[in-house]
Parts: sequence; structure tokens; C-alpha cells
Amino acid sequence: MKAYDKQFIGGLWREGRGEGLLDNINPFSGEVLYSYRPASREDVDEAYAAAKAAQKLWADYSPSAKAAVLERLLSIIREYRPIMDECLLLEAGCAKPKRDYEAGTSPDFVSYCMTFPKMMEGRIQSSDFPGQTNFVFRKPKGVVTVIAPWNVPFILALRSVIPAVAAGNAVVLKPSTETPASAFIIGEMFEKAGFPKGLLNVIAGRGSDIGDYIVAHPLSDIVSFTGSTQVGRRIGRIAGENIRDMSLELGGNNSMLVLPDADIDAAVEAAIFGAYFHQGQICMSLNRIFVVGEENYSLFCEKMAAAVRSLKAGDPADENVFIGPIINTQQVEHINSLISATVETGARVLVEGKTEGNLVYPWLLCDVENSMPAAREEVFGPVCSIIKAESEEEAIAMANDTIYGLSNSIFTRDRYRGMLLAQKLESGMVHINDQSIGDEPHVMFGAEKQSGVGRFNGTWVLNKFTTEQWIPVR
Ligand code: NAP
Repeated sequence: MKAYDKQFIGGLWREGRGEGLLDNINPFSGEVLYSYRPASREDVDEAYAAAKAAQKLWADYSPSAKAAVLERLLSIIREYRPIMDECLLLEAGCAKPKRDYEAGTSPDFVSYCMTFPKMMEGRIQSSDFPGQTNFVFRKPKGVVTVIAPWNVPFILALRSVIPAVAAGNAVVLKPSTETPASAFIIGEMFEKAGFPKGLLNVIAGRGSDIGDYIVAHPLSDIVSFTGSTQVGRRIGRIAGENIRDMSLELGGNNSMLVLPDADIDAAVEAAIFGAYFHQGQICMSLNRIFVVGEENYSLFCEKMAAAVRSLKAGDPADENVFIGPIINTQQVEHINSLISATVETGARVLVEGKTEGNLVYPWLLCDVENSMPAAREEVFGPVCSIIKAESEEEAIAMANDTIYGLSNSIFTRDRYRGMLLAQKLESGMVHINDQSIGDEPHVMFGAEKQSGVGRFNGTWVLNKFTTEQWIPVR
């Protein structure tokens, strides 16, 4: 992979002016892919100034002219698939199924948003005042700050960056320090597509150094953050103090409910994907599975254990590997401490994983209580807890007994009943007869409770990244 060791500010690639050097590290091999100087506060200021200026220029492009640049971006992002694939392998430790999903579906976010420049619809409203007509205009917000996590680095940046620019905004993007190259690859694609210089700026540096400064920046009109609930809380506080609009997509503690009439084989197949895809490092990953009824519980545990044992863990470059490395050592330690604490409090180990470097082999725990650490917290690793429920009501109550509310799933042969029960689950999304991970650019995506604020995708994100202005005319 090319060394993306420069910041991308105002259309120029130049060295950051922050203190020291940061390393981009391959989570599987531990190899330093390249080192770079992080962005300083001055770099951040220049990125926002460039964005502000470029947004004014971009606003004057006709809708068709904007769509034409987006169309060029669409062909470039398709050509970039091998580059994105390599980046996902090397800096994010993605195994082939995750790379195929992420590099393969990234263009969909561009193709969907290509019509946004022509969807900037306002309203004409009557007035009680004689001779007055009320016009409500839709306008871009201005400069959108996008802060992205490392787990799905392209899509979770693109799902904000693309609708933001398509709605007429400029963007300052800050990637995770774990996966900076992905964001600079997006910058490179923007440069090639011919967007005005400075419309997208990419600045890399530790969130703990420049994060607060970015969120509070006076030229930022809205913060679109995807990451942990812990950091989201801090961002919410700073954005609130500055009366800044925000969208927060945060952590999850997602569950699957296996009802007594469920197709157990189908539920197991889905659960394997939901719990172990990308090593369980997806915000919508299945953390808990509630199986209703004694008989189903034993059968489900037995079949799930056999399926987990068949998962191949190892070098993500090996096309047969499903489970690649965890992003870093601190996260490996966190996962292992949650497993130990859960086993110590009485959970039974159905499949025992092991740890080799950053590789954590899959774990399956049963006889878990909802109050045990691995069930209470977002594990964000290849660990799944099976919990027995006496009734559907108990399963729903336990699934809801968490601060999170992102995505859940229900397996039942009675789809209508599944839909009715889904409405009792306190989460933004509930999949019937599937696992909990899913995202389609045109379909509403979002969370309840401490999993987030705001909605993504479709016209929800268009509304979020635009504002309205009332202009009564006499
Ligand atoms: P994280 O630690 O919260 O970091 C997310 C981003 O915030 C990174 O770019 C990070 O930069 C930055 N950051 C850290 N401190 C900051 C501050 N004070 N101000 C501004 N930005 C700051 O999360 P993560 O570990 O990357 O991602 C995993 C978490 O994200 C999980 O909890 C997962 O559930 C959640 N997630 C949610 C969704 C969703 O759609 N709901 C999707 C994916 C992931 P540095 O890397 O430089 O610290």
C-alpha cells in the first residue's frame, strides 16, 4: 500500500504540523505500514477555512454540474476497488468477506446520493397576511465535520461525506488513528473526480489531541460522529455547549431472539454471521442470543457450537479465513478480561478460543445471565453469549435491559407476530428472520437510547445535512 503520510487540506497534500510521528500499523503482523506527522490546530484551522471557501464555490454549481462530478467519483470508486481492498486488509485486518462487503458496496453510497443535488426541495405556503407568499428554501448546512471509526472505515466515512457534499456542503473528515489511509484514499478519489479544492479536507491526528478542537470549531456547522458511546457523550457535551447540530451513531449491545417456532438451522446460520463477521467488531454485531424454551435452547447451543468450531481464524490474506485480527492489543485485553469475568461469574464455555498476538479465536458462552459482563457490555470481539429465556416476554425484557438500542433480530416462522414483537424492542432496527447487521444506503438507519441520536441514509440524511429558511415575500 502507498504511504498516505500527508494531510489533505485545501486540495494540497502536505505534511502535518502536529507533534511527533504516528504509525499506521497492520493489526495482524504488527508491521508499521508507514509513519506520518499528525495534524496540528493550525492545520485544522486551515482545513475549515478551505472548506468554508470551497462550499461557497460548490453552492454555485448547478444541480447537474454537481451530479456530473459525483458521477465521475462513482467510476473512480469502482476502479479503486483493489486499492480499497488492499487498504482494508493491511490497516484494518479485514478478512475477505468483510473486504468484499465494504469495498464492494461503497459505490452504492455514491450512486444513491447522485440525485441529492436535484432533491433540494422547499415549500410555498399561504399566508394570513394579504399580498404575502411564504417561501421555505432548503439550503446546505455549510461545513460538515465527519469523525469516523476504524471498524468499517470506508463506509462509515462515505455514508456521511457523500450525502453531505451531494447536498451542497463541504466536509472536514477526521479518520480514526487506527485506519487513516482509508480516509486519504477517499481524498485522493475526490481529487481525481474534480471536486473544488478544499471541498473535502482530510486531517489525521489523535482524537485525544485535536478532537475537542474540531468539534468546537467555529466554522463547523454540524458534527457527524460514528464511534463509541463514551466518546459520543463527550462530543455531545461539546457540541451542546457550542449550540452545534450533531448526529451520533454509537455503540450497541445487540441481540437475537430465537422464538419457540423458529427454524433453528436458519437461526444458527444467521447468528454465526451476526456474531463473528469482522471478528464481532461491528456496531450491530450480535452480542447476546436469547433462546426461548428448554428444548430449543439445548438444540441451539449444540448446533451453534458445531458451527463456531468450523470457523477459520488466521491471516486475513488467506481467502478461507473468516476471523482475522482484532484492531489492537488494548482491545484484545479488553475482550479477554470480559470473557474471564463472565466465566468467573458462572457462564459455561461451549467453544474456547485462544489468543495469538491480536488474533482472538472465536468464543461461545452459554448459561450466561443477562447481568454478566459479556452480556452487559459491548464486547466488540468474536464472543457470543447464549442466554436461556422462559418466555418471549422475558426475552424481550432482557433484550431491552441495556443502555444501548441499535439493532436486534427475531427468528420465528410467524412473520406477522415477529413484526408485532419487534415493535416492543427498544432499538432503531429489528431484523426478522435474519441477524442484526444490515445497512442499505436508501433505507433508514439509526438507533435509540445511548446508541445514538439522529438517522442516516435515504432522505433522513439529506434532511440532516440541510437546513430550511423561511422567506415571506410581499
Ligand atoms: P471511538 O474510540 O469512539 O473513536 C471514534 C472516532 O472518534 C475516532 O476517529 C477517534 O479518533 C475519534 N475521537 C476520539 N476521541 C475524540 C474526541 N475527544 N473528540 C473527537 N473525536 C474523538 O470508537 P472506535 O473504537 O473507533 O469504534 C468502535 C465503536 O464505534 C464501537 O463502540 C462501535 O459500536 C461504534 N460504532 C457505531 C456505529 C453506528 O453506526 N452506530 C458504527 C460503527 C462503530 P482516534 O482514533 O484518533 O482516537
